[in-house]
Amino acid sequence: MVSEIRPQVENFKATGKIIGFVPTMGTLHRGHLSLIERARNECDVVIASIFVNPTQFNDTMDFESYPRNIDTDLELLRNAGCDIAFVPEYSEIYPRPDTTPYHFGAIEERFEGAHRPGHFKGVGMVVRRFFEIIKPHKAYFGLKDYQQVMVIKSLVKQFNLNVEIAAAPTKREADGLAMSSRNLLLSPSQRKAASRIYQVLDEVRNRASKTDIGELIVWATNEIDREPELKTEYFEIAHPATLEPIADLKNAQQAIALVAVKTGRVRLIDNLEFFVKR
Ligand code: AMP
Repeated sequence: MVSEIRPQVENFKATGKIIGFVPTMGTLHRGHLSLIERARNECDVVIASIFVNPTQFNDTMDFESYPRNIDTDLELLRNAGCDIAFVPEYSEIYPRPDTTPYHFGAIEERFEGAHRPGHFKGVGMVVRRFFEIIKPHKAYFGLKDYQQVMVIKSLVKQFNLNVEIAAAPTKREADGLAMSSRNLLLSPSQRKAASRIYQVLDEVRNRASKTDIGELIVWATNEIDREPELKTEYFEIAHPATLEPIADLKNAQQAIALVAVKTGRVRLIDNLEFFVKR
């Protein structure tokens, strides 16, 4: 409860403790736990939230089918050394409608922003509210949601929030598939096919300096779509700092490939940032 967590945090702060915060939507996996571990190493008190935030879902079916495993999650958090699990009710996060305009410029116009209208506004809204309740010194986010990290950094700047943002690398399954709570929704054959996504990202990294960017994107899209159960929603290669399109990979030093793929009703995203080999 907000009324409980606020004084707890104030007490910790009064004794000079550094507060680390890890927001999640639950159904925790090793990706989430890597963020908890990092916070554990860098802060005195670790707080994790579990809240499936409706305002960031542009698809009601996706919200309703999003996996929820609260008992297992609480156990995992305890074992990972998390000090406080904050599991708020909707009415605590949104006691009244948040009418603040959230704008993230070009970041929200591309890729996830373009394909999930309103998604980043919902992310901005919920993270700002969490920061207002918890007032952490540091907050931890995964680079699997690369654009989200950019949105959060922009949020902190725009609203002058006094919190340091730490971004952590993507944890993967043994076959390369990025860990995601939604992976639990995959059938065995979809799960097997999904490993193709990372293989193609990796191959794009290898081919980047040798292939025309347009051809590379078409190749990657076709490779993923050759799996009968996968359908690429977008596959793009951009500048990692700005997400601007790259005209010619031969002149680029660094790039990021970003992909979204549908398999049945489940939508998976992944990305790979790389140096263009010479
Ligand atoms: P979610 O529960 O999906 O909202 O994720 C909560 C946090 O965990 C976000 O900052 C995600 O970017 C991060 N995260 C999700 N999956 C992974 C992963 N495979 N590796 C590292 N971080 C992740």
